[in-house]
Amino acid sequence: MSEVLSGKTVAQAMLEEVKTRAEALSAKGTPPKLAIVRFGARPDDLYYEKGAKRTCAQVGVACDTTELAADVPEAEALRAIGALNDDPAVHGILILQPMPKHIDTAKVRYLLKPEKDVDGTSPINQAKVFEGDPTGYPPCTPTAVMEIIKHYGIELKGKKVVVLGRSMVVGKPASMLLLGEHATVTICHSRTKDLPAEARQADVLVAAIGKAKMVTADYVRPGAVVIDVGINVDEAGKLCGDVDYDSVAPVASQITPVPGGVGSVTTMVLAKHVVRAAEKVAASR
Ligand code: NDP
Repeated sequence: MSEVLSGKTVAQAMLEEVKTRAEALSAKGTPPKLAIVRFGARPDDLYYEKGAKRTCAQVGVACDTTELAADVPEAEALRAIGALNDDPAVHGILILQPMPKHIDTAKVRYLLKPEKDVDGTSPINQAKVFEGDPTGYPPCTPTAVMEIIKHYGIELKGKKVVVLGRSMVVGKPASMLLLGEHATVTICHSRTKDLPAEARQADVLVAAIGKAKMVTADYVRPGAVVIDVGINVDEAGKLCGDVDYDSVAPVASQITPVPGGVGSVTTMVLAKHVVRAAEKVAASR
């Protein structure tokens, strides 16, 4: 049976450092603060917001939500985000996604100040991920994947990594971060031929496709490490990943669970990014 890569353990290990840094900032008069922007009240958004607020409270990062109606006029939404951009007390801005269809996502991404864009959606931060420039903020979820890999000492140099999914939120940035650690990365997507055969090449398999339990044992080379980014609901209404945990766990050497895996680290990464953004402001004073 495989070793469980516990996201909760990783988040706990990160907590003390993030908390100490946040306390030092507050003591010097720059209390770190995150602003969350939420459109409407989708249950997924409320769930993530609650988790983010809990983590921020644990480490001493202030967190306020700007609630916008789901049908808020675009100009009003842009004004609200612009006001957070200009608010010196706010160090990080998280806009819960997806935004309503009538909001031009590109306008928001270009408006967001890169130095406050702690979830890596602005073009500058995206470019930095692809350049391997560590001064930016990669999206929190792929960064959480890297934190788990680092915490458990999983070797990437020269290893074959297969990433299932090519979104700008998870698949592509995860691939670039893994490449930055000298893995040989294959990116797969919905048009990939013979996905199980591609996946079986992996020493480390990262699943980010949004399909409940699609990755079964025949996708996994015996002894591979499996990182499951997916958050789905199964036929019984229970939270599950993209990986069919019960069939894959006996084959893999190490595996992240869902829940309790990548998702548990994501909000700690968010808080850490806010602290780093606040440290930059404090250092420039
Ligand atoms: P998207 O829907 O944006 O992207 C899914 C990707 O998977 C696409 O690249 C798509 O390919 C590919 N894909 C879909 N179906 C298949 C298939 N049958 N075979 C091969 N590839 C396929 O999802 P996200 O990247 O935003 O999220 C992925 C998963 O991660 C979701 O379950 C989401 O809930 C979860 N998530 C978890 C977070 C966390 O904190 N743990 C945070 C964010 C997301 P194509 O490009 O060809 O369409």
